[in-house]
Parts: sequence; structure tokens; C-alpha cells
Amino acid sequence: MVSYKDLGLVNTRDMFARAIKGGYAIPAFNFNNMEQMQAIIQAAVETKSPVILQVSKGARNYANQTLLRYMAEGAVQYAKELGCEHPEIVLHLDHGDSYELCKSCVDLGFSSVMIDGSHLPYDENVELTRRVVEYAHQYDVTVEGELGVLAGVEDEVQAEHHTYTRPEEVVDFTSKTGCDSLAISIGTSHGAYKFKPEQCHVDPATGRLVPPPLAFDVLDGVMRELPGFPIVLHGSSSVPQEYVDTINQYGGKLEAAIGIPEDELRKAAKSAVCKINIDSDSRLAMTAAIRKVFVEKPAEFDPRKYLGPARDEMKRLYMHKIVNVLGSNDKLAE
Ligand SMILES: [Zn+2]
Repeated sequence: MVSYKDLGLVNTRDMFARAIKGGYAIPAFNFNNMEQMQAIIQAAVETKSPVILQVSKGARNYANQTLLRYMAEGAVQYAKELGCEHPEIVLHLDHGDSYELCKSCVDLGFSSVMIDGSHLPYDENVELTRRVVEYAHQYDVTVEGELGVLAGVEDEVQAEHHTYTRPEEVVDFTSKTGCDSLAISIGTSHGAYKFKPEQCHVDPATGRLVPPPLAFDVLDGVMRELPGFPIVLHGSSSVPQEYVDTINQYGGKLEAAIGIPEDELRKAAKSAVCKINIDSDSRLAMTAAIRKVFVEKPAEFDPRKYLGPARDEMKRLYMHKIVNVLGSNDKLAE
């Protein structure tokens, strides 16, 4: 049993309370490798932002859960070395799918876990989430539950259609489970293909596809039922068209990749939404940078010469999200 507190990590309770009050959202960035982790920490330190490092099932399979946990411990020391005296870093399990997995992450030193029972019948979701909360809270680890189903594909989480969260269920769910935050479904979705072109309209000024708006009425309904309760948005990458264009220009083939417009995320961040999950955008940034080097410098074979630029591009992306979209810069407690 390792306590996250001994690793210098924090849970989400205090940072979410401040985020709701301050009208901003904390970035939750997925990480799978060292360059991504370095970029996240550099961006968080330079912008003085709290940050959530997320580990998905795919990340655990790819990089090994123990290794990722030690990288998060290293991240705290790295942030201090970069000049941040009191970093606020959460190590969070993204889409935990069983009690056993959540328990093992708590025991390993995670400071926050998500138990995703959103695909289960309501009563089973309540029971599973309640059990995870009961265990996690003994160690002051915070728990994210989910109501409603997001469309799209994220590692092994996938669904064909989304089902919006029902605001009439949220009070019952949060009071029965005791969860600390709630992921809801209002039209965001996982992956880089969030909408089909036929769901979108063409912006006459840019010729780009514009997706249908998020269901802010559902979010408003949830906030009326649960005033001041921390809300989480998954699947909130914007799929920047510059990256899609760069990838395609340098030999890639991404067709009709469409994300959530940043204006909508800005609006959400000012509400009770206090955690916004971003994964695909950093994948696109990394791929765009690497493809560019491969085409422009075909003789290059030192991985540092393409992973380095990829890291720089991801850092630019993370800083942009923090400062221009979520507003979590300059929000460290001390
Ligand atoms: Zn998700």
C-alpha cells in the first residue's frame, strides 16, 4: 500500500472546489510515454496550472501501470526541479472498469480514480460506484462516477450513439454513491471523429465543417439539481484543423476528423464543469510534428530528432488549452 500523499500528489477535492468558484476548469491530459509527460509538466509549470495526469486502460496495456505510477512520482520531482515549489498534480485512473482495478490503483498510489459504470443498468452503476467510493475514501482518494453514455472510441471504451445524462437522476446517484465528481454526457465524444459530416454544416467563411452544438440545456439541468457539484467532460478534444492539415500534407490520411469547438469548451469551463479531458489533440500534435520531420529530413534516424519536436508541439498545445480555453493558469494554491 502506497499513499499518494507520500508521492507528493494531491486528490481533486480542493482544486475542483476552487475551479467551480473561479469559473475555470482543470486540464486532464492522458499520458502514455515520457515525452508526453514532460510536455504536460513543462506546460503546467510554466503556466502555474494544477494538472490531472490520466492513465487509461490503453495506457496501462501500452506502458505498464507500475511504470506510469513511477513516472507520475517523477513528475512531481520534475515540476519542482523546473521551479514549481508546490505543484498540484493528480494521478487519475481514466475509465476504471471494475472495483478490483480501482482498488489496485488506490493501493498503488493513484490520488483519484474514475469508475465508469455508465454502460451498466442504473442500479448496478450505483452499487459499483458506491463500493469504489467506500474503499477510496478510506485513503482520501477522490472518485469520479459517470451517468449517460458518450459516443465514440477511446482505447477500449466505445459506443455507437450517445445517451445524454438525465438531470433527474443526478441527485439520487451522487447521494447514494458519495462520488466526488460526475462525468456527464452532453454531446462530447471520444476520439478524433466525433461527428459524421452529415451531422455538421459548412461554415461559409472557412469552408470547414461545424459540428452540432453541445446540449447546454442538459448541463444547466444538472447544475440546477446539483448546485456547486464538480462536473466532468470527457471526449473534449477540438481536433485542431492545422494538425489535421499538417498530417495530411505530410503523407497522412485523416478524413473528416472533427472535434468540439473551443468556444463551447470555454463556455463549459466557466460553469460547474471543472475537469475537461483532452487526449486526441495531443496525439494529433505529436503525429503532425513527427510526420513533418520524416518528410523534410528523410535521412534523420535519431528518435530524439523527431520526438523532441513532437514534445515541443505537445507543450505548445497544452499551454494553449490551459491559457486560452480552460483558464487554469495562475491557479496554484500557493
Ligand atoms: Zn473518457
